[in-house]
Amino acid sequence: MDFKPGARKKRRKGIRLIDEPPTEIADCGVSLYQSPPTDLLDSCDVETLLQERMKLLNMVALVSERKHRSVPEFVAALENEIRSDPVLKPYARLSGTSVDVDQYRLRDLQSHYFLCLAMCKSEEKRRWLVKNEADLFVLRFHIESLQGRKKFLEISRFPFKMVSEEEKKALAPHLVKWCQADTLEAASKLTMYRVPFRYALALVSKLKVFIHRGMAFIEERELVHVIKTIFKDRLMVFLKTIPYYMSRVEEDQALKQVLERFEARTDKESSEFNHSASGTSVRRQELDMLAEESFPLCMRFMHRSLRETHHLKHMGRMQYGLFLKWIGVPLEESIELFKEEFGKVRDPTKFDRTYGYSIRHNYGKEGKRVNYSAYNCESIAKAVPGAGEVHGCPFKNMDNRMLRTKLKGLKEDDIQSILAQTDPKMRCSMFFQFSHGLEKPHSVISHPNGYFLWSRMVRQDDRFKKMSAPQGRPSTGPSPSDTSLMDTSAQESKDIPDDWGTDDLGDLEDLDVMLKGCS
Ligand code: SF4
Repeated sequence: MDFKPGARKKRRKGIRLIDEPPTEIADCGVSLYQSPPTDLLDSCDVETLLQERMKLLNMVALVSERKHRSVPEFVAALENEIRSDPVLKPYARLSGTSVDVDQYRLRDLQSHYFLCLAMCKSEEKRRWLVKNEADLFVLRFHIESLQGRKKFLEISRFPFKMVSEEEKKALAPHLVKWCQADTLEAASKLTMYRVPFRYALALVSKLKVFIHRGMAFIEERELVHVIKTIFKDRLMVFLKTIPYYMSRVEEDQALKQVLERFEARTDKESSEFNHSASGTSVRRQELDMLAEESFPLCMRFMHRSLRETHHLKHMGRMQYGLFLKWIGVPLEESIELFKEEFGKVRDPTKFDRTYGYSIRHNYGKEGKRVNYSAYNCESIAKAVPGAGEVHGCPFKNMDNRMLRTKLKGLKEDDIQSILAQTDPKMRCSMFFQFSHGLEKPHSVISHPNGYFLWSRMVRQDDRFKKMSAPQGRPSTGPSPSDTSLMDTSAQESKDIPDDWGTDDLGDLEDLDVMLKGCS
């Protein structure tokens, strides 16, 4: 499919797979997807390809959510996961001598491009796609044979070069120091690449590059990080240019309809997080019950604290307030909730000017009127609560003794299993499993609103009791385990001063500027 202006328009009917795959497909199991597929398929096949790719990338997203100490560990976990799925299995490694390998390379190329078409219109979807495609690329690059990698480097025309023997000799004294080799000979045995500095930025902070005359020199084993950066850059640029050529795609009615159906489905699934969008609203009187039944521990802790101390400090108000907004608590209810509680220990007549403004601000009704997103687990886990603060992730911030008191109500064995884990998200997932009486673990929790949504589904439908999380469901873009569509405010808002809502309103305008572009 050629999206470039002036490209020759082809009219095809039915399924016709490419008889002669492009060179890139034929030669190597790793791809930068530089050559778009040149044939269209039957619309049913496009739909199947889209679903397959989505399932594959969801799997990548799920595995990358877990903590891995190193790239090889991540690669091994991802490969295992993909190989355990009979449909996706061949996607793990697209090289070897299997008779089907060319067909799968082709499916890989086609499914990649169709998903690009389906996800190019929104920034969130583009980011999600680029991240997970890049992680998939890392897997493929790692498990590719040496010969395959060489071929890939040859055909990809990367902006870096292998360092020649003469150059290495000239650099040898520096290299000896940098790589802590014992001898000049040992240093000159290293296979090194000369890379434009900007592609090696991620390695600079890890002290894995040697800089000389504006160029970065890296060892061969670090090359994958540089190629990953290039892969992400190129894919992002490509995704941003697709909409300009969409008219070409739109000429093909069947394809257009498939893409629209797919887009609508993923949009619907991602909007399931937003109860207000689906028309379900939560009254403040229901919150005590919901907090015990369906809030993740972080939000349950803040809710209890609000009820007991009648106050939440700034970051608590932000985290909890945005969470409430996205589970469907209307603005007026949210204002009433905080007003009732704060009014018990403060002058209620000052509430509107001090705290009311910030709540309306969260709902996009003040300042620049931005529809702020809720914090995801990653952002929450970065918080380090100070004295008197109750925000942050309890699975990360609390010691085991304290955490044990918060897990009261669970069986001792279950508490032990949770405490034996170190990763906060895994702990939270186990907490979900045990507190909902599930037989199998839920997919890894990565967003408090995702936790809430799943909890309501489980509580209201006993069929879930026998199940773990549904498989193949979109995860980060449109998935319950990660609402990337809702997490963009987090990074920005942590810089906001603690007394938000108590200072004069001039500060709130500054805040507005800081939060600009967060939704
Ligand atoms: Fe809350 Fe996420 Fe921590 Fe669970 S893992 S307690 S949802 S921040």
